Formats: sequence, structure tokens, C-alpha cells
Amino acid sequence: MLDRDGVASIAPGLERDYPIGLYTETDGRAEPQKAVPAITAYARRLGVTVLENCAVRAVERTDGAISGVVTERGRIAAPKVVLAGGAWSSLFCRSLGLRLPQLKVIVSMQRTEALANGPDAAIWVPGICSRLRDDGGYTIENGGKYVADIVPDSFRFLLDYLPTVRRESKAMSLRLGRRFFIELGYLKPQGADGISPFEKERILDPLPDSAVMAAVPRLMAEQMPVFSGLAIAEQWGGCVDVTPDAIPVISPVEQLPGFFLSTGYSGHGFGLGTGAARLTADLVSGRAPVVDPHDFRFSLQREGQGCIWNSGLAGIALTRPTLIAHAPGF
Ligand SMILES: Cc1cc2nc3c(=O)[nH]c(=O)nc-3n(C[C@H](O)[C@H](O)[C@H](O)COP(=O)(O)OP(=O)(O)OC[C@H]3O[C@@H](n4cnc5c(N)ncnc54)[C@H](O)[C@@H]3O)c2cc1C
Repeated sequence: MLDRDGVASIAPGLERDYPIGLYTETDGRAEPQKAVPAITAYARRLGVTVLENCAVRAVERTDGAISGVVTERGRIAAPKVVLAGGAWSSLFCRSLGLRLPQLKVIVSMQRTEALANGPDAAIWVPGICSRLRDDGGYTIENGGKYVADIVPDSFRFLLDYLPTVRRESKAMSLRLGRRFFIELGYLKPQGADGISPFEKERILDPLPDSAVMAAVPRLMAEQMPVFSGLAIAEQWGGCVDVTPDAIPVISPVEQLPGFFLSTGYSGHGFGLGTGAARLTADLVSGRAPVVDPHDFRFSLQREGQGCIWNSGLAGIALTRPTLIAHAPGF
């Protein structure tokens, strides 16, 4: 925890006086475009087979238990299957008759051109959520404004998310558009022979909110003059999958022996990845779990319990070093 002087020393040049802040010296940051291929290459060296652009269409069952998966390129026999499908997991579960409350929120992201003399610390204060990139630019976003497309699942899971929607009403705006009809089309039952939604739309690329994005560089320059004149190089919508309590589901599925879930990382999945993967592997292989898996159990979703929504840490959970500062009134 930092006091006023501590905040000023970590992020010199902040216009506003922040009496308190949180600084996580041990956090790290990574460039996704480099980190993901590097992790994949390492997994391959360990003997893992990674198939890219190969959707799993269905899970195969024999006598009620898992016996494999059917992919767009054929069948793979497997006595155990882990669904780690990110934002697609709920749709996949639906095809198995399993109810996994999970919705998507869209964060409006921007990448700037390189900037000289900007802060090294990733900063999250009202109006700035930024992290320095490898190329000298910054990845920036509002840090407190999200869009949620209204889709059929919004109604299906309405009761699960009502407390969150109430709490987050200032941060979240709802949008009704084409997405509703796209996702309506995905609800049609389809067999393992047809083209699945996971092939029709291989990568989620949602529309960002242009009004939110337009305000960010101005707010940043107001907060820190060094950010004046930021040149925007790229804008995109980042799709974050969220469970009602923002806690992931890492669990066997009792109703379907051999089937496991590792999903619902709710904006924290990169940072949680190594620990979450270890717990997933422990559960699948029957080893003693590295942590108590009770709070991540699938049945929790049906029991309607859970922890408190931890608003918006997504943008900075794995950045180094990180500063979050708050002033009274925020
Ligand atoms: C803008 C933004 C900023 C973020 N910042 C941070 C951060 O700072 N720190 C942090 O910890 N987290 C952050 N996150 C969250 C983090 O990226 C996610 O929590 C994490 O990627 C989730 O991992 P996952 O493996 O569950 O899902 P994903 O990374 O989405 O991976 C799931 C994969 O499964 C594939 N798939 C789905 N269905 C099928 C199928 N049927 N067959 C085959 N493949 C399938 C998908 O194509 C996808 O490649 C951020 C997210 C966004 C959008």
C-alpha cells in the first residue's frame, strides 16, 4: 500500500494528488503475440500435440462416460476431456445439456505509437489504464467502461447476473445489434457432421465502443501531461468471458465422468494461467490438488453461491510493475 508520496514516486507526473495506492512489485507483463507462441512451442517440446484451426464439434460418449471428441478433422479417442474454450465454453456445455452461466463483456482497447519518456509502471487510475509495450507504445483503455451485447444468453442467465448488473450499472452499457441474431443461430442443435459455430467464427472480434475510445487519450493527457499528443495506431474490442462471480470453474463434471471444465477466467486468465493449469492437471490426473478446488467447483454455478465480483482488474492483472491509485470519490 502506498501513501501520497509513494504514489508520486512510482508515477511521477500525475496531475492529481492520490492519497492512497496499491503497487504490485512482483507483477509481470507479457506481449500476448509473443507469449502464446512461446508457451505453445514449449508445450510441443514437452511432447504435447497442439492442433491449430481445428474445432472440436462434439464430445463422444460411450455408456454415459467420455470416450473422445469429434473434431472437424476427425475423431480423437480420449477417456478424459478438458473444456478450456474461453468464451465459447458455455455454448459447448449447452450441447451436452450442461448449464454454465458465462457471458461476454467487451473492453475497448487501443494501441499507441511509441512514446518517449512515458511511465514504465502500468497505471490504473480513474481515466488511465495503460501499460508500456515492447515496441515503446502503450496499450490503453478506459479501465472502467465495458459494453455487453444483448444476446439470447443474456436472458437465459439473467437471474445469475442480476446482482452484478446492478453493481456494475455505471461501468457497463448494453448494446442490442447483430450479435443477438448471430448467437441465436448458434443455438440450433447440430450434429458432429455439420460445421459448428466454432468453425463459423474462429476468432471473436467484437466492435469496440468508439465513444469510450475517443475519450481515453484526452483523459490520459489530463491525468499525465506526458501522454499529450498520443498517436493511436490500432483499436479493437477485447472479449472477456465472465462468470456471475468472476471466479473460474476448474472442476470435474459429475454428470459426465471424464469431462472437466477449466474456464470462466473472467479477465484474469493470463495471470492465473500457470496456477489454474496446474490445478486442472491435478484434477485430471487424480493427483492431490495444489490448492483446495472447492471454490472452483462446477456445481457452485447451480447452487448460485460465489464470491464478490471484483470489478475490472482485467486490464492490469499481469503488468509490471503495477500501480493502482484511488482518490476519494472513486
Ligand atoms: C483486452 C483484454 C485484456 C486482458 N488483460 C488481461 C490481463 O492483464 N491479465 C490477465 O490475467 N488476463 C487478462 N485478460 C484475460 C485473459 O486473456 C483471459 O482470461 C484468458 O485468455 C482466458 O484463457 P482461456 O484459455 O480460458 O480462454 P482463451 O484464451 O479464449 O482460449 C480458449 C481457446 O479455445 C478455443 N476454442 C473454443 N472453442 C473451441 C472448440 N470447440 N474447439 C477448438 N477450440 C476451441 C478458442 O478458439 C481459443 O483459442 C484480458 C482479456 C482481454 C480481452
